[in-house]
Amino acid sequence: MKVWNSAVTTQPAQVVRCGNEAEVSAAVGRAREEGLPLSVLGGGHDWAGRALCENGLVIDVGGLKKITVEDDVATVGGGVTSLEAMDAAGATGQAVVAGTVGSVGLTGLTIGGGYGPQLGSRGLAADNLLGARVVLADGTAVEADEDLLWALKGGGGNFGVVTEMRVRLSPFETATAGVVLFPGEQASEVFAALGDLLAQAPDELAVLSGAMDLPDGTPAVYTNPTWVGHPPLGAEWVRRIERLGTPMVSQVGPVSSSATLRAADEMFAADGRGWTLRTLNVPELSSEVVKAIVTAVQSKPSANDVINMHHFHGAATRMAPDSAAFGQRREHVMVEIISGWRDDGPELHEKWADETLNALKEYALPGGYPNLLGPDAHAQIVQAYGNNAARLRSVKEKYDPQGVFTAIPLP
Ligand SMILES: Cc1cc2nc3c(=O)[nH]c(=O)nc-3n(C[C@H](O)[C@H](O)[C@H](O)COP(=O)(O)OP(=O)(O)OC[C@H]3O[C@@H](n4cnc5c(N)ncnc54)[C@H](O)[C@@H]3O)c2cc1C
Repeated sequence: MKVWNSAVTTQPAQVVRCGNEAEVSAAVGRAREEGLPLSVLGGGHDWAGRALCENGLVIDVGGLKKITVEDDVATVGGGVTSLEAMDAAGATGQAVVAGTVGSVGLTGLTIGGGYGPQLGSRGLAADNLLGARVVLADGTAVEADEDLLWALKGGGGNFGVVTEMRVRLSPFETATAGVVLFPGEQASEVFAALGDLLAQAPDELAVLSGAMDLPDGTPAVYTNPTWVGHPPLGAEWVRRIERLGTPMVSQVGPVSSSATLRAADEMFAADGRGWTLRTLNVPELSSEVVKAIVTAVQSKPSANDVINMHHFHGAATRMAPDSAAFGQRREHVMVEIISGWRDDGPELHEKWADETLNALKEYALPGGYPNLLGPDAHAQIVQAYGNNAARLRSVKEKYDPQGVFTAIPLP
């Protein structure tokens, strides 16, 4: 059984592909009767492979593909990908609040949080979750009540199988988006100037940024600006981004909503590579953080090792801290240390990822992004939910007291 990360070797005993809610209920019942561990497979993009369980029963929701749009609300099946939902919303001149890659499951992304180009204007994907149907641990299908819906906004797949979500859409004509690449040797100056720019970024502007090697091996710093707003103002911000250094490439222009999901497609294609990931949040790109990142980039073992950064700001920071289980509402930069390998095996890459994490730790906020924190990052997960941890525990106790769903080890 293959998922996005080829290093995941978990072997389930059974995979049940479900096409409707009744089949999901039956599959949950079967796992319980047979005493099998249970997991839920959506888009298969969790790097830690939590969609699969060893010798257990995997409920594959990939057949739940319903998508309807009514006014500014989309109803999407639990197996719909981000791109499928975006295409449907785009046909009505709107956008789904999603991430940066189309093949990621919209449900997996949303219930774990969902950082993306609309963070500043619309918040997290989870902030736009209006309702859900869920098959609970006892096999019953329910409409999520206030508590369960709250927990699904960041608490991950710990409460049941989400067969359907209702999500709020945002008006969308065209965005101004693309890529501005700088030579790797400009990393220090570009990241330092980017820190100043992010501090002034309006809600309409998202800048995904990081460091990677180009296909020909040239080290590069990348910025992926997305501006959703009045185009001439967006063009001015793109010019400011181009002035962060001396760009090698600048390809930014009007794009459709679906094109906003292509920012990282090629870099992170599911092409047989093994992956590991570490993450933490820093309050800003301070000079110490920039120095640690540049040092890490200079020592990365291969072209498959990447630093990726999402800017959490604007609308996402203005949500009440207790409005969703997601626990960090302070402005920050979410740093992803992504390390990939082919035949050379994981050792060097895992070492680099750990060293980079350790170098950044002293500048980090407590916690991190639970959707990307691996099973070994328990201390960070405990802190990630902050003051919301107690309510999250009580919702877990109410809906899944026997711990049938084990997606994220909750505090
Ligand atoms: C290439 C790539 C790009 C990414 N980009 C972003 C990004 O821009 N922003 C961001 O925030 N995150 C991003 N992520 C992280 C991603 O959002 C999470 O890994 C997410 O959990 C993946 O969901 P999935 O359904 O594709 O994966 P899966 O591995 O199938 O599922 C992930 C988790 O969600 C649970 N789950 C999935 N569907 C359901 C369901 N219907 N009901 C109950 N539980 C369910 C699974 O059991 C599992 O625990 C990215 C990951 C990758 C690999």
